Amino acid sequence: MILEAKNLYKNYTKGNSIIKVLENFSFEMEKGDFVAVVGPSGAGKSTLLHILGGLEKPDDGFVLFNGENIYNNDKNLDNIRNEHFGFVFQFHYLLDDFTALENVAIPGMINGSEKDAFERARDILAKMGLESRINHFPKELSGGEQQRVAIARALINSPSVLFADEPTGNLDKDNSKIVIEEFKRLNAEGLSIILVTHDEKIASVAKRILRVEKL
Ligand code: ADP
Ligand code: ADP
Repeated sequence: MILEAKNLYKNYTKGNSIIKVLENFSFEMEKGDFVAVVGPSGAGKSTLLHILGGLEKPDDGFVLFNGENIYNNDKNLDNIRNEHFGFVFQFHYLLDDFTALENVAIPGMINGSEKDAFERARDILAKMGLESRINHFPKELSGGEQQRVAIARALINSPSVLFADEPTGNLDKDNSKIVIEEFKRLNAEGLSIILVTHDEKIASVAKRILRVEKL
């Protein structure tokens, strides 16, 4: 099992009321799986993705990556996140003053040489059909292209799990389709993917659907 959640609990407090988000939530994911997390707004999809991705600690329960408890210590968690997890969000968060190529290459310089990072960035962008756009700045790219650059950036350190939170939430239908095709291609190459979406049609490209309910 590449990723497992065991008996997760998560509440938030709002004023003096408690919002229950996850109650005894368990989940298993094999390498190469593609899971869409669906459910109504406010059900806890983002919270679940953040907890599974090591971005937010559960109140109780465990998250295991390759059998290892990711919340055991902070340094270990940083390593797992940087080396094994990739993230894509609704907004691309690209750096305005850097080109597409630089945006993808920069996080790759943590684990390797600059030259190497640029080579890998070029490679990933080319596979996404963005070869002619690598020297463009984010503002010069379409919304769909920006999001594909953000996906390329998430892949620069060769993660084994890609976490995507409403990655098409800001895109029109045609661009959503292109981005989703990209996820399908990456999954076919062996990448494990967890995709949060409120869109059933988008969810239908995944291998399985996990429904989160409002408690
Ligand atoms: P979804 O992604 O399904 O829309 P979220 O995980 O974003 O749901 O939110 C689940 C619930 O938790 C919502 O009621 C939301 O308002 C609440 N929530 C999320 N994050 C926080 C937070 N940091 N502080 C307080 N409440 C939060
Ligand atoms: P189903 O069992 O209807 O086929 P899934 O296969 O998508 O649904 O499984 C979803 C599982 O997650 C169910 O066991 C459900 O009880 C559980 N679940 C859904 N929402 C929550 C939540 N907010 N907290 C804890 N468990 C949840």
